[in-house]
Amino acid sequence: MALVNEHFLKLPNNYLFTEIAQKVNVFKVTHPKEKVISLGIGDVTKPLAPAVVEAIHRAADELATTSTFRGYGPTQGYDFLRDAILKHDFQSRGIHLDRDEIFVNDGAKSDTGNIQELVRWDNSIGVTDPIYPVYIDSNAMIGRSGVVKDGRWTNVTYFPCTKENNFIPQLPNGRVDVIYLCYPNNPTGTVISKAELTKWVNYALANDALIFFDAAYEAYIQDKDIPHSIYEIKGALKCAVEFRSYSKTAGFTGVRCGYTVVPHEVTVSTFEGKRISLNALWSRRQSTKFNGASFISQRAAEATYTPEGKEQVRQTINYYMQNAHQILSTLRGLGYEVYGGENSPYIWAKTPGGQNSWQFFEEMLYGTHVVCTPGVGFGPSGEGFIRLSAFSSHEDTEEALDRIAKW
Ligand code: PLP
Repeated sequence: MALVNEHFLKLPNNYLFTEIAQKVNVFKVTHPKEKVISLGIGDVTKPLAPAVVEAIHRAADELATTSTFRGYGPTQGYDFLRDAILKHDFQSRGIHLDRDEIFVNDGAKSDTGNIQELVRWDNSIGVTDPIYPVYIDSNAMIGRSGVVKDGRWTNVTYFPCTKENNFIPQLPNGRVDVIYLCYPNNPTGTVISKAELTKWVNYALANDALIFFDAAYEAYIQDKDIPHSIYEIKGALKCAVEFRSYSKTAGFTGVRCGYTVVPHEVTVSTFEGKRISLNALWSRRQSTKFNGASFISQRAAEATYTPEGKEQVRQTINYYMQNAHQILSTLRGLGYEVYGGENSPYIWAKTPGGQNSWQFFEEMLYGTHVVCTPGVGFGPSGEGFIRLSAFSSHEDTEEALDRIAKW
């Protein structure tokens, strides 16, 4: 008899965005004539940069002839892409990494979910709250998160990010072995300063903890003092893994490419105190369970680093950031309390009177036909908030804001 992994039964029935899609679908079926505008799910809408499209065509041509055809590539990614990453994403910020510390993947979701396999099931985990649901759910699947009780996982330490603490997470009093940080943050759209991030790195070094740092939205940072990489902080090469993605940077949500940095210096301990290289473990894990990102997506990612590619990608980010500013200023003008949106494509808005966020989601959907994301779906501290995304067109963003203003 095949027995189920019972930890899966502890998960909420649906992934947050599946639940939202179901509710939006019910609305669409019952209101077929209404135009629904989504400021909810964090998917991009602008097409790929022309430099990326040309690279995809050239890559397809390379695969079309015997002499240039490529089959399986290196599991960690082609050198052409890893060298471009080292040069443009890190050396340019004074960070020196080796090629073997870069693991190219099919987007950040898989690695942010899989990385927890490298540590024992009974390590304690801590997450900023609210947060991207993948971190807790992936730990829940092997039993590390405990069970949900009153909307909280029993074995997860939450670091609340609320308006009272300016959305700056405070260090835990006790010990946490594995810490997930995401900056710029999904869902609050807030960022972390070098001084605040330094506290976390120092905590990790002092407590022999690991930090999993998700920088999927770093390209949206506008303020020059905000760190783009955790490795801008002294000591982080000893305790942190960083996740990057071309999804929001360059519209690759459909193309699929990203990478994970696992520095050689990061180690984890055996019971006997022997130090084991996380890089070696991840390499072993990936070579068993992953066969590399596609050649075409890696050539596409490489094109984002050419002078034209960089400029085109920057223009698209500017386009979305104009939406973010529009959402911020309109909602502020309407009297909403809004946060984020300055170094991030997400705006975090308080529901009027702190109304239940699922209820507000439904009222907004039925009242304005605009989709938002209920904050509580990202964790208990998200109750009383909604997330709005800047990834629509200017026209749809403006129309959605008009409808909200008239509501
Ligand atoms: N990390 C965060 C914080 C995200 O918001 C997302 C996607 O929305 C991802 C990772 C995953 O992105 P992808 O798998 O498309 O690279």
